[in-house]
Amino acid sequence: MDALNFIDGRHVPAQGGEWIENYQPATGAPYGKVASSDARDVQAAVAAAQEAFPAWSSLPAQERSRKLRALARLIERDKDRLARAESIDAGKPITLASTLEIPRAALNFEFFADAATQSATEAHPAGDVHLNYTLRQPLGPVGSISPWNLPLYLLSWKVAPALAAGNTVVAKPPEWAPLTASLLADIAAEAGLPDGVLNVVQGLGAEAGAPLAAHPRVRRISFTGSVPTGRKIGAAAAANVTPVSLELGGKSPLLVLDDADIDLAADLAVEQFDNAGQVCLAAVRILVQESIADRFRAAFLAKAEKLGRGQGDPRDETTTIGPLVASAHLERVDGFVRRAKADGARVVLGGEPNSELNTATGGFYYRPTVLERVDPTSEIVCREVFGPVLTLQTFRDEEEAIRLANSTRYGLSGIVYTGSRERAERVGRGVRAGTVWVNTFLVRDLTAPFGGVGISGIGREGGNYALDFYSELKALQILEGTVQ
Ligand code: NAD
Repeated sequence: MDALNFIDGRHVPAQGGEWIENYQPATGAPYGKVASSDARDVQAAVAAAQEAFPAWSSLPAQERSRKLRALARLIERDKDRLARAESIDAGKPITLASTLEIPRAALNFEFFADAATQSATEAHPAGDVHLNYTLRQPLGPVGSISPWNLPLYLLSWKVAPALAAGNTVVAKPPEWAPLTASLLADIAAEAGLPDGVLNVVQGLGAEAGAPLAAHPRVRRISFTGSVPTGRKIGAAAAANVTPVSLELGGKSPLLVLDDADIDLAADLAVEQFDNAGQVCLAAVRILVQESIADRFRAAFLAKAEKLGRGQGDPRDETTTIGPLVASAHLERVDGFVRRAKADGARVVLGGEPNSELNTATGGFYYRPTVLERVDPTSEIVCREVFGPVLTLQTFRDEEEAIRLANSTRYGLSGIVYTGSRERAERVGRGVRAGTVWVNTFLVRDLTAPFGGVGISGIGREGGNYALDFYSELKALQILEGTVQ
């Protein structure tokens, strides 16, 4: 299946007639082409979004909400088709896609459909001389640039609040997993979104993403992806003083305190291999209190080994861990592990590509990997790998735990495992991150803020935080007695 652009309600190839080959991570085989767009296609999409903006933004919120609800229901209807597409496209285990990510994408549209009708504004006391109140107004076309690791889910996280707030959208999906964005465009049209309200421009970051980030008519840029790309997007948007939301990488810690339930903590540690570790929030630095380190290590490694035995085709429902998204990414992940080994890290699990499986299938599988004896200042501890590679370190006390947890420049999330509320609050407050979970992972109410500190990003998504980002907050002041 080919991934075309969707501009002004029509699927179209890139104006330059260029294509990118799309490879299936499970087999390495090409299975479709992606429109390779450039500034001309971005220009056409922004023009369509501008054209559609007056009618869409002036629809009553209830009407926009009805269409977004219809869109959510259609995602649910097409759940299996969308999950299959991500499994082929991104190598995502089909069970993960169909039970978690696709349903959450639908939920995002449903949530913001409701939020659009429930967002209130403020009135400000100004004596009896002025009537002073805040308006939350739609902006115009907004840009969304998203990554391949959770393709539809992260796209919905941007598109749903942007549309709910009355904006039109130009989305640039990831070149390694473009399919569900094209399918979403069809679903949106079926749900009754007028032409030009949601546009999709496929292609490479430097050629299709960069002109979108730099476009002077784009009123907001919402980006999820890596730190180096985030820096470029921030710089491009700064030239137009366009506000950006940057959701970037992470290197999150999992702190296992000595009163933790070791078996449950080990389960949570193994969860960090989900999606082959290609999750921004994954707590890939496991920090364990010395007094329980041996017992935790044994339980964790036994479970991680078992998970590795389930590595295989992502379309198979019993698969526990699939391939990496691309051969270039496999090389990158392996490069980190090789350098860590050369630096003195000890491999206690995996530590190499799954050559047996790769030879048999042509795919890009990497074995779940655990490294220990790592230097806290080394590359493997301080830089995001974005693969199934976890490090194990120990700490003596809470103070050292917090110091090690906060020793990287990232700050996306963290997990604390403890049976004590007091310790949960103390250590939870100490970890420098946008989100900290205690004895759990990934759960989040959609009204809660989501975002990173440090180089993990700027801004917060979620609930009213997203609606504020996608709106112009205007203070209107009327001098009483002068109007009727
Ligand atoms: P990436 O930065 O390479 O690409 C992300 C998107 O940006 C893609 O659509 C790409 O085409 C586009 N892009 C690349 N260069 C561009 C440029 N110069 N101008 C405009 N757009 C450009 O990231 P990736 O490899 O696709 O995704 C993995 C990264 O995303 C990891 O670092 C991961 O931690 C991060 N991520 C963060 C979150 C979060 O919520 N904080 C969530 C998921 C992934």
